[in-house]
Amino acid sequence: MRSIPLIIWLFVSWQAEDLLWLALGATVGIIISFLFIRRTSSATISKTSDDLPENAANSAIEPVAPRVLLAAMMTSLREGMIVVNEEMRIVGSNPAANLIFSHVELPLEGKRLTELTRNLSVHQAFEVAFKNGERNEINIETRGDDKRTFDLRIAPLRFESENETRTAIGIFYDISELDRLEKVRQEFLSNVSHELRTPLTAILAFVETLEDGAINDAENNLRFLTVIRKNAERMHRLINDTLELSAIEAGKITVEPTEINLASLVTDIADNLAAKAEAAGIQIINQVPVEATVFADLDRLEQMLTNLIDNAIKFNRPNGSVTINYCSNGERDCIKVADTGEGILPEHAERIFERFYRVDRARTTREVGGTGLGLAIVKHLARLHGGEASVASEANKGSTFTIELPKKKTAI
Ligand code: ADP
Repeated sequence: MRSIPLIIWLFVSWQAEDLLWLALGATVGIIISFLFIRRTSSATISKTSDDLPENAANSAIEPVAPRVLLAAMMTSLREGMIVVNEEMRIVGSNPAANLIFSHVELPLEGKRLTELTRNLSVHQAFEVAFKNGERNEINIETRGDDKRTFDLRIAPLRFESENETRTAIGIFYDISELDRLEKVRQEFLSNVSHELRTPLTAILAFVETLEDGAINDAENNLRFLTVIRKNAERMHRLINDTLELSAIEAGKITVEPTEINLASLVTDIADNLAAKAEAAGIQIINQVPVEATVFADLDRLEQMLTNLIDNAIKFNRPNGSVTINYCSNGERDCIKVADTGEGILPEHAERIFERFYRVDRARTTREVGGTGLGLAIVKHLARLHGGEASVASEANKGSTFTIELPKKKTAI
């Protein structure tokens, strides 16, 4: 039916022999089409309204009973909620509260508050609500393995009449994750300040010494300046690593994987670190098969491997070696960096990928000048690729760091 106006329009236009007729024909065609469409659509609309049941337009929406609404809200609430009366007995609770007090037999209703928790401040907070009729708020921490922190807010409920039993409602907001993040932030800030303070103190001390006359001490003045430069460089590295890590964690860094020939990348990195390895008497052995490829972001893979090989040189023994190898592990490629150093004890191995964690803090900062952020960056970058970084170590034999990377997906 909808094609009829088009046929009319085509017919009128076809009859036209010159442009003017064509224009007129087109106009008439359009007007006919317009009228036709209006008619058919109004018919459609009226048909639709005719189809409606008679009472539908007037039917009033049934209001949901407040009790039903309240029950639905309480059940779906993620926060635990208990209602306590003046005798400190539970008179109401929701499923989330049942989970918080899972050590108590259900139902909670009828139980004394002391059966739910022995925490004195919770009792006192409810007492304040009854005594002063005031809202109050406390932070509580649960005991046991699954430690959680709650922000508990208590408010007295309104009473219709004087004889009614007085009750107060307590809502438990789980702030464990917020609390954890806050602790991480504080720890991070205090670590950064501490790490910056050490080289800064050294710089200030040596500047003062130079000012106090050592600048004219031809034998030592250059040595003092070198110490100052080294410490300033350390601060620089620390700030760069911190910014890099925050950028990765904030999701501001993206990786663009391409197929990379691993053997030649390892050769390039070994060349860059050759002077350092030679100075430490360490041999770098590239055992990656020439044909091995991995799917990764070139710059980021270079950064990860440079970090691991640099560590393997730093924490090695004199005349030791660093061996780089490749293996294929199901859906993943893996790159191994093995050294012949003193190894890492299991209690440290679990933690060395944490920011600022160092096995021997004093030695690391004094002798090798590390920031303690290198492995944290490696782990984050490996995860950004969808892979993982790990370590296996044996005391006095050395450590092997592994980067696993997902293989390139091939079209089926
Ligand atoms: P940095 O090297 O700057 O101190 P990293 O995050 O790279 O920081 O390493 C953290 C710590 O892990 C080092 O301080 C060191 O104690 C330990 N570590 C890293 N690599 C090795 C290794 N190959 N052998 C032994 N210990 C290592």
